[in-house]
Amino acid sequence: MQKLRIAIQKSGRLSEKSLQLLNDCGISVSNGNRTLLASGKNFPVEILYLRDDDIPGYIEDGVADVGILGENVVLEKGNDLSVINRLNFARCRMSIAIPRNEEYNGVQYLQGKRIATSYPRILKNFLQQNNIEADIHEILGSVEIAPSIGLSGAIFDIVSTGSTLLSNGLKEVDIVLKSEAVLVSGNNLNAEKQAILDKLVFRINAVMKARTNRYVLLNAPNNSLDKIISIIPGMKSPTVVPLAEEGWSAVHSVIGEERFWDVIDELKEAGAQGLLVIPIEKMVN
Ligand code: ATP
Ligand code: ZN
Repeated sequence: MQKLRIAIQKSGRLSEKSLQLLNDCGISVSNGNRTLLASGKNFPVEILYLRDDDIPGYIEDGVADVGILGENVVLEKGNDLSVINRLNFARCRMSIAIPRNEEYNGVQYLQGKRIATSYPRILKNFLQQNNIEADIHEILGSVEIAPSIGLSGAIFDIVSTGSTLLSNGLKEVDIVLKSEAVLVSGNNLNAEKQAILDKLVFRINAVMKARTNRYVLLNAPNNSLDKIISIIPGMKSPTVVPLAEEGWSAVHSVIGEERFWDVIDELKEAGAQGLLVIPIEKMVN
C-alpha cells in the first residue's frame, strides 16, 4: 500500500501548528527526535521534516507529495504547485519599508532605487505590475539592516509587529502580500495517493471549520424564539427544546468566529439567558 508523503517544516514558526493540524486530523506523528522521515500512525502517510525553503523543490521532484508551508515561500519558490487549502495560521505580511525620515509618495518612490530582499521573485512581480524599474538586491538574512549600512534605499521583507523595522530606523509603507500557511501538492499524484490526499483534505476541512465555529446553548422565553432563531440559523436550523419551566426553551446552535461577539450581543438583547459557548472538535457537513 502506498503512502502519501507530507513535507513539513523541521523547526520554525510552522512546525508546531503543522503537527497539531495533522494530529487534529487523527494522524499521530512522533515529533520526538525528528528523524528526516517518520511514519504516521493510523493513516497512510509519511512525514518528511525539511527546511521550509526546500519543500517546494522536494515536491516538484516528486520526493514529497504534498507540503505545509507559507504562501510567501510558495510564491517565491514554487513553480509547479497547487494550493489545496489555506490553513489560517502563520499569518504575516510582506511589505516595502523605507528610512523613517523619508517621504513616501507611492510606489513611484521606488523608481531607480536599490531594494534589498530575500524574496526577489515576489518583489520583481510587484515592481513589474507597477511599471517600476528598480535594482533588486538579494540577501539571505538581516534584510532590515541594509539601509542603515548603505546597501539599499528600501527593503522588502516579512513584517509582523513592525518593531524590528522601527529599531532599524525604517517604516512600513506598502503591503505587497498577505500570507498564511497553506497545504500544497504536486500536480501528478497517482490515483492511490490522490485518494489519500482527498481523505486528508476532507479531514482538514472538518478541523478548520470546527476551529472557526463555536457551539452555543442558551435559554430563552418562547415569545423571543423567532427573533433568536433569525440571529443564529445554525448548520441547518437551530435545535429548540422545551425547558421544564413553562414558557421557556433551550436553543442549541453554531456560531462562526468572525461575528461571534456581535452575535452574542444580539442574542442577549433578544432575551437570551444562560449562554454557554463550547468549542467544537470536528465539523462534517
Ligand atoms: P527554515 O529554517 O525552515 O528555513 P525560516 O527561518 O525560513 O525557517 P521561519 O522564521 O520559521 O522560517 O518562518 C516560516 C514561515 O512562517 C515564513 O515563511 C512565513 O510564512 C511565516 N511567518 C509568520 N510570521 C512570521 C514572522 N513574523 N516572521 C517570519 N515569518 C513569519
Ligand atoms: Zn526558511
